[in-house]
Amino acid sequence: MSDPIRNTVIVGSGPAGLTAAIYTARANLGPLVLGGANAGGQLMTTSEVENYPGFRKGILGPQLMDDMMAQAAHCGAEMVYEDVAAIDTSARPFTVTYAGGKKVKTHTVIFATGAAPRTPGLPSEKNYCPPKGTGLHTCAVCDGSFYRKMPIAVVGGGDSAMEEATYLAKICSSVTIIHRREEFRASKVMLDRARANPNIKWELNQIVDDVLGDPAHKPVPIVTGVRLKHAKTGAIKELKIEALFIAIGHVPTTDLLRGQVEFDKDGYIVVNEHQETKVPGLFAAGDCHDRHYRQAVTAAGMGCIAALETERYLTREGLA
Ligand code: NAP
Repeated sequence: MSDPIRNTVIVGSGPAGLTAAIYTARANLGPLVLGGANAGGQLMTTSEVENYPGFRKGILGPQLMDDMMAQAAHCGAEMVYEDVAAIDTSARPFTVTYAGGKKVKTHTVIFATGAAPRTPGLPSEKNYCPPKGTGLHTCAVCDGSFYRKMPIAVVGGGDSAMEEATYLAKICSSVTIIHRREEFRASKVMLDRARANPNIKWELNQIVDDVLGDPAHKPVPIVTGVRLKHAKTGAIKELKIEALFIAIGHVPTTDLLRGQVEFDKDGYIVVNEHQETKVPGLFAAGDCHDRHYRQAVTAAGMGCIAALETERYLTREGLA
């Protein structure tokens, strides 16, 4: 007997996907969550989350996500921690293909795949990214402890850079924030916290021209410094560091829907105020479409909207 057609498949297991799972499960839609091999989204690589409501003293990012996954399962969502290889919305019902090849048919999809760290595309970048090399990282909580009592730098001028630098300043001998301007996108509270930290130094109006290192180092190439270019004068100088943490924003993870929905110029999915894409029955929620707010709580809100609209769509179409 072939598998039944699902009411909804949720792709992604960050705050958007899991909130959609909780709502659709409680609406008796029996959602299948394809949460990815690395479940939980960006909060899995964050430390303390102080701005998600409901936690007097904050909560660790991985703990919050673990609790959300458990809550979704408790509500009745079926959780599968496998990547998705393809989504086909050209025929109804839609077909979602797992990385392992299994196919599932579904009337609706809630797409909530989030975003991934942006990298600057430096000439030597690939030499030092783990696992091929070491010294270029995008997650302080994951990799900061490798650089205990060593000098490191963080590139970026947003909240992520301030957060990463403040965290690393507790571990490393010194942290230099490298930013290409003098003005910051970071919120005042996070910028002030970094500015007040005596272990944080600043290189402003500086562009990272390249990472310097020892490509012949065994067992893997290591970073020994960065070459900086002054944004106004073009003057070049070198900074000796043992690691560079990149915190320059994110790119939406939207390749699975290429050619099927509308994207903005940076690859974010275009939706209306009901989280609907231009394909009826295909909803998008969270950082894969939201270029403005990108907060766990806003992603969760969008997941809720997508779930409520999914329920309405299924009812309207006589599908559930
Ligand atoms: P962001 O706010 O977009 O900031 C990215 C920073 O990287 C900007 O300063 C930008 O410089 C710089 N940048 C971008 N491309 C670059 C390149 N190729 N080379 C050098 N620098 C580059 O990203 P984010 O810091 O990841 O924050 C994203 C969102 O998450 C924000 O809404 C933020 O508030 C939120 N967030 C919140 C928390 C928290 O509340 N705990 C923590 C982290 C993030 P320019 O300014 O010159 O463009």
